[in-house]
Amino acid sequence: MTLALERLRTHVLPVAQAHADAVDRDGRFPEETFAALKANGLMAVLIPKAYGGEGLSLLEVADLCSALGQVCGSSALIYAMHHIKVSSLVFHGPGSAWHEGFMGRVASEQLLLGSATTEGGGIGGDLRSSICAVQRSGEGEDQTFTLFKDATVISYGVQSDAILITARKDADSPASDQVLVVAERHQLKLEHTGGWDTFGMRGTCSDGFGLTVNAPARQIFPLAFADIAAQSMLAHTHILWASVWYGLATEAASRAQALVRADMRRRGAAAAGGGNNPSPGMARLAELMAAVQAMRGGIVGAVERLERASADPALLETVGFLIDMNTLKVNASQSAVDILNRAMVICGIAGYRNGTPYSLSRLMRDVHSAPIMINNDRILTNVANLALMNRFNGSLAG
Ligand SMILES: Cc1cc2nc3c(=O)[nH]c(=O)nc-3n(C[C@H](O)[C@H](O)[C@H](O)COP(=O)(O)OP(=O)(O)OC[C@H]3O[C@@H](n4cnc5c(N)ncnc54)[C@H](O)[C@@H]3O)c2cc1C
Repeated sequence: MTLALERLRTHVLPVAQAHADAVDRDGRFPEETFAALKANGLMAVLIPKAYGGEGLSLLEVADLCSALGQVCGSSALIYAMHHIKVSSLVFHGPGSAWHEGFMGRVASEQLLLGSATTEGGGIGGDLRSSICAVQRSGEGEDQTFTLFKDATVISYGVQSDAILITARKDADSPASDQVLVVAERHQLKLEHTGGWDTFGMRGTCSDGFGLTVNAPARQIFPLAFADIAAQSMLAHTHILWASVWYGLATEAASRAQALVRADMRRRGAAAAGGGNNPSPGMARLAELMAAVQAMRGGIVGAVERLERASADPALLETVGFLIDMNTLKVNASQSAVDILNRAMVICGIAGYRNGTPYSLSRLMRDVHSAPIMINNDRILTNVANLALMNRFNGSLAG
């Protein structure tokens, strides 16, 4: 167990658990959880030690997201989204003085980073297209930019210390010629355009905003967003989202296991009075554990695939790698929903009711964000197009 996981378990999970129902009921930001994460220095664990972080591996960070997901889905998703933004700094910040300095500040000030990729005007979750554009003025070190984005969904926009935003490189660029910019709180104006009264993940507070930025041009990542997305962001997004959903799924599985155990104890007592009386949930529990194991294998396999590709960057941009990272999102989101459904059948009325030790309501509502958080149909359309240009590889060795 890493020291970070130990700190999370001891100092953060009890806080997140204590407030999870209120966060869900009131649709409010999990401020107590994030105060505890910051107080325990857990906002910069992915950042290399050279920049003030802890230099954890992606799998170790995924494990933190999953552990948090077991107690509060909204906290876990916010924590995962923050680390997805941090990953862009870690992989594409070195070499740019401003981004290196900002990475150090994320660590020393425990900053929370948000994301604005989704846009109105028909763009929606199409990450690789923007309508909004960066408008530069001035020259050299003094160059600044302005940007307006109709950002229809920004999770914890109000609480973010900085937001990473996609936009076209300039007013003449096509929709896919994008940059990624970092805008700090004092450089942002947020005009509220839509609320977040949703079925699940209510504490992410993913409201809509008209977003205006005015900032120095050095805060624009030097690398094109197309390369950032392909080389790091797509894989980190899907792995960290999947780890949150895995947390929801394993919590549901552990509640189903506890119910079958309790049922077996009760039946054991009855059997002492005569007869062999196994719980009807036994076979279903075994199937549930198989589904959990398959989901875990998919996530760990994707992390290994990313590590192998990172050691050989040419692999990062292959069609096969892109297909694997996209199908991870589709598979993990479907598996998580499937595991929740299986757990509900095992827990029965005790799972359906609120306020029992086996209640699945919040987990069930949170997990349904998974297939629509960038719609699986949209991702499958991309996968199908990629698959048509790729020679099928059935090798287990990759
Ligand atoms: C909990 C949560 C938190 C979020 N937080 C953020 C955030 O912090 N920042 C942010 O920028 N965004 C955020 N989002 C928004 C998210 O990234 C997507 O933009 C949003 O889910 C809409 O995705 P979509 O446009 O793919 O699908 P939908 O709007 O669900 O799509 C509607 C329908 O159109 C179909 N469709 C649309 N285009 C295509 C296509 N090209 N091919 C096939 N089918 C298509 C879809 O399959 C679907 O049937 C969040 C979403 C959720 C659920």
